[in-house]
Amino acid sequence: MDQTKIPQATAKRLPLYYRFLKNLSMSGKQRVSSAELSQAVKVDSATIRRDFSYFGALGKKGYGYNVNYLLSFFRKTLNQDEVTKVALIGVGNLGTAFLHYNFTKNNNTKIEMAFDSSPEKVGKEIGGVPIYHMDDFKEKLSEDVTVAILTVPVSAAQTIADKIVDSGIKGILNFTPARLTVPDHIRVHHIDLAVELQALVYFMKHYPMD
Ligand code: ATP
Repeated sequence: MDQTKIPQATAKRLPLYYRFLKNLSMSGKQRVSSAELSQAVKVDSATIRRDFSYFGALGKKGYGYNVNYLLSFFRKTLNQDEVTKVALIGVGNLGTAFLHYNFTKNNNTKIEMAFDSSPEKVGKEIGGVPIYHMDDFKEKLSEDVTVAILTVPVSAAQTIADKIVDSGIKGILNFTPARLTVPDHIRVHHIDLAVELQALVYFMKHYPMD
């Protein structure tokens, strides 16, 4: 299937659907209605039906969707048959928390290695992940690492992004407030916790949920 035809908003919901379906499948459930899915993932059922129609999954009335069919489709689409290897850069408070967090429990991404510039951190292991010096980035970075998580101070972010550009990394999950400049072949997703919190507080105030 031509994946470019899946709208981005739909693509963003795939991991959500995937996680829920995986749980259903593990509990032995074979089919699910869009109403059940809707309740569980908090997406309205019309949106779910539209999303699923892009995958060629047409639920039958009174039957619902075949859980295992959907699951195998999502697994392929989300590359869950392959482990995506990740490097974490910046082993501060946030970075350390990520190293302890077992991402592979819910999806097939794995932090393989970490980098930091502090001599106190270099040479150690956290959560089984070795920490190397940022100066050794080029030598130590495995060829098969395709994603970087950036948890450095904002002042270091762009310099590190520039280093990443010359490596095999194709995607950056940026937790710093810096707006990074990178070439087109690198995708940056930005998670600015302070901005998200501010937005939440604004929405609570101006769009109260009754
Ligand atoms: P956090 O923001 O994750 O809570 P923190 O407050 O503990 O972290 P920061 O000053 O934000 O510390 O730094 C995060 C980590 O990034 C630290 O471990 C620091 O040593 C590391 N770091 C700082 N500059 C660089 C750099 N240029 N290259 C790699 N790592 C760096």
